[in-house]
Amino acid sequence: MKTTTSEALFATAKNYFPGGVNSPVRAFKSVDGSPLFIKKGDGCRIWDEDDNEFIDFCCSWGPLILGHNHPAVYEKVVATMQNGSSFGAPTRLENELAELILSRNPFIDKMRFVSSGTEAVMSALRLARGYTGKDKVIKFEGCYHGHVDAMLVKAGSGLVTFGASSSAGVPESFAQETIVLPLNDIEALKTCVANYKNEIACAIIEPIPANNGLLLQEKTFLVALREICTKNGILLFFDEVISGFRVAFSGAAEYYGIKPDLVTYGKIIGGGLPVGAYGASKEIMARVSPDGDVYQAGTLSGNPVAMAAGIAQLTECAKPGFYEELEKRTVDFIAPINAHAKANNYAFEIHTIGSIFWLSFAGNKTIRRADDIDPDMTGFKHLHHALLEVGVYLGPSGYEVGFVSQAHTPEILAEVAVKFCQALDVIYV
Ligand SMILES: *Cc1c(COP(=O)(O)O)cnc(C)c1O
Repeated sequence: MKTTTSEALFATAKNYFPGGVNSPVRAFKSVDGSPLFIKKGDGCRIWDEDDNEFIDFCCSWGPLILGHNHPAVYEKVVATMQNGSSFGAPTRLENELAELILSRNPFIDKMRFVSSGTEAVMSALRLARGYTGKDKVIKFEGCYHGHVDAMLVKAGSGLVTFGASSSAGVPESFAQETIVLPLNDIEALKTCVANYKNEIACAIIEPIPANNGLLLQEKTFLVALREICTKNGILLFFDEVISGFRVAFSGAAEYYGIKPDLVTYGKIIGGGLPVGAYGASKEIMARVSPDGDVYQAGTLSGNPVAMAAGIAQLTECAKPGFYEELEKRTVDFIAPINAHAKANNYAFEIHTIGSIFWLSFAGNKTIRRADDIDPDMTGFKHLHHALLEVGVYLGPSGYEVGFVSQAHTPEILAEVAVKFCQALDVIYV
């Protein structure tokens, strides 16, 4: 595979950006390579600057559930742009996207649009604290919530309950307001709540943790979390930036039938443009400015072009059978690969939910917590490389999940499954 153009662009980019990138995982550090610079995407395919063609399973890390350059999204964006790109005043498109979402979502009454998942989480955490008048938040190890100060926190060592910051620049005093608990552990949650219940504003979780492997939770854990929060005046905060509009239109809340008090969305909601959102009941949202005393604002919030992309994409997602079809395609894609791995005794299994999949190199072990994952990513590195060689693009980290989009037809997926099996044979034999 020729990569000289991408390599030259990367060398230049290193002069401009830390690590040559504008978001760290793109740097290909964990797969020991040089990132491919992408110049075009169409349907399920992308092309890099050296004209290599790939079937793309990164899908911009989740937003592109219809694939690249979907005609409905493209047309609506172009039509909207013709009337200007931003006004800093309300537009009809914000109402339309909100109506599309809220009329189908039984969990929240009102929402606010922002410009990224991180911004949504940051704003909703402030709202949780403002509404409850409490400062501490529970976070679960292995869940990612964007680069919000309060969320860049890892479990403290030993018996220390409070977190330690996991990034330079986050004051330890901020980290101390975050309590980090293991996923899928009801006892740890109970003990924590018994000790601190009057200080905890909310418990934030990715109900389908998909940013650090795919750490599928037992439903009993999520149900217990809901009950414990309700009993103790703690808001349950589902961060659905990745799972929202992915596993079902109204996300994991709909998938599991569990009502959170606060929800954040991102990724798919913007149709490939930068949009995030947070939402809650009327009562909680009444605290957001200008109605209430929790301040939050944004120059480009509800941007009309981004709203247009979101409306076009979510209109497709809302069609009957959309999620069932996507899940079926994913199951049919994965099944022969897992069967091949099993038949050959490869310690490899693809874990999946809805149209999300993750490659586990620990055989068929159940993985529910961050520390269940084998930190040795050599297998992934080799597979990633072998798949690139045959025109299959996965996100460049073994901790990241892959996505099947509506543009991945059953025929294409069947072809990729064959390539996957061959790549496994190469790395295991
Ligand atoms: C991607 C993601 C975020 C961060 O969103 P950005 O748009 O990258 O800021 C937050 N939470 C979850 C669950 C995510 O998957």
